[in-house]
Amino acid sequence: LNVPNNPEIPYINGDGVGIDISPAMIEIVDTAVAKSYAGEKEIVWQELQAGEQAFEATGDYLPEATLTSLTENLIAIKGPLMTPIGGGFRSLNVTLRQNFDLFANVRPVAYFPGVASPVKHPENVNMTIFRENTEDIYAGIEFESESADALRLIEILKSDFGINKIRFDKTSAIGIKPVSPDGTKRLVRAAFDHAVANGNTRLTLVHKGNIMKFTEGGFKKWGYEVASEYPTFTVNEFNQIKAQDGITAAKAAKDQALAEGKIYVDDAIADNFLQQILLNPSDYQVVATLNLNGDYISDALAAQVGGIGISPGANINFITGHAIFEATHGTAPDIAGLGLANPSSLILSSVMMLEFMGWGEAATLVKLALAKAIASGHTTRDLGGQLTTAEFTKAVIENL
Ligand code: NAD
Repeated sequence: LNVPNNPEIPYINGDGVGIDISPAMIEIVDTAVAKSYAGEKEIVWQELQAGEQAFEATGDYLPEATLTSLTENLIAIKGPLMTPIGGGFRSLNVTLRQNFDLFANVRPVAYFPGVASPVKHPENVNMTIFRENTEDIYAGIEFESESADALRLIEILKSDFGINKIRFDKTSAIGIKPVSPDGTKRLVRAAFDHAVANGNTRLTLVHKGNIMKFTEGGFKKWGYEVASEYPTFTVNEFNQIKAQDGITAAKAAKDQALAEGKIYVDDAIADNFLQQILLNPSDYQVVATLNLNGDYISDALAAQVGGIGISPGANINFITGHAIFEATHGTAPDIAGLGLANPSSLILSSVMMLEFMGWGEAATLVKLALAKAIASGHTTRDLGGQLTTAEFTKAVIENL
């Protein structure tokens, strides 16, 4: 990306705790940028309205001005948004992702020493999940039970396709799960590009192709096709050598491939993978998966490193460069406005944003300062500490 020294970056405070965490993130980023580039670079923040606050101010949950700015500016960052019930949206977040075709949801999950974790060795978790963001059952092709469309569809499926399964009658609700080769391949390429750029040695395709042969099975097949575009050694190659020359030869070939800088590519069935990331998390580095699997996997991993209050995320179209960085948690209505929220998720999302902009020095500075603050016992209540959002923010800034 060709980012100018004074880029205009739109931000959406977000609903609920958004008003606590967004100013904290901006203060930290501005301080880190000033320290890193001695005044040569500066972000020009542009506040945009969305969600409940936008509705109160403009009568619109996603005002035109917000969509225009997000169209004109490639990079933006946002707090959590409450999805209005009956507001005409399935979800504001999903709408934003689909509007800008932000096909990859990128969720790095790593442990910060000092954070309370429910597992014995959270330091073994260090993975980046690439979750497909526009297809799968999340595409929103759903038909309500007994609606005219569902009835029509059921008729067609029964008469034209001979589908007469148990528990599939005119009262069934129906969801359609589209998964395409192009949609899969652009996501998997983004995951490989990340693995290459970061020197990762393993990429795992996660799917339920054993049950959903053409959709999830297609994802696996097309994923392996992408693997052939990169310097890789696949589990299929491993198994072929094993069948011909034995396990020792296969292991030696894999070691040789890794020594040559190749990426080991394998796949895992999603349910088994959820076990594996709990039992052997250090085995995995980069994960590419479909929309729904990715949703579960990201939050399950986030829980291992101390919860979603500290896990960042981004929605990116790696082809156009459009990207919206975001807090991964919700609006936390139970603590909204009390000044108690943990701003770490949004702060770490801003680290991803700075890296994406090529402002690596500022990104590293923020990340190290946050890690130092937490390691020295400065934490908010969700992480077992006593600090308010403002006190935590101050601790991070002191460590910059
Ligand atoms: P939530 O993430 O808002 O809250 C779950 C629990 O985690 C609560 O106890 C909350 O206090 C705590 N928590 C969340 N973020 C925290 C933080 N930064 N610091 C400290 N504690 C934190 O999930 P929910 O209650 O299921 O959802 C509430 C609303 O948020 C819903 O309207 C939902 O649609 C929306 N939501 C938005 C997003 C998003 O914008 N990305 C994501 C999830 C949920």
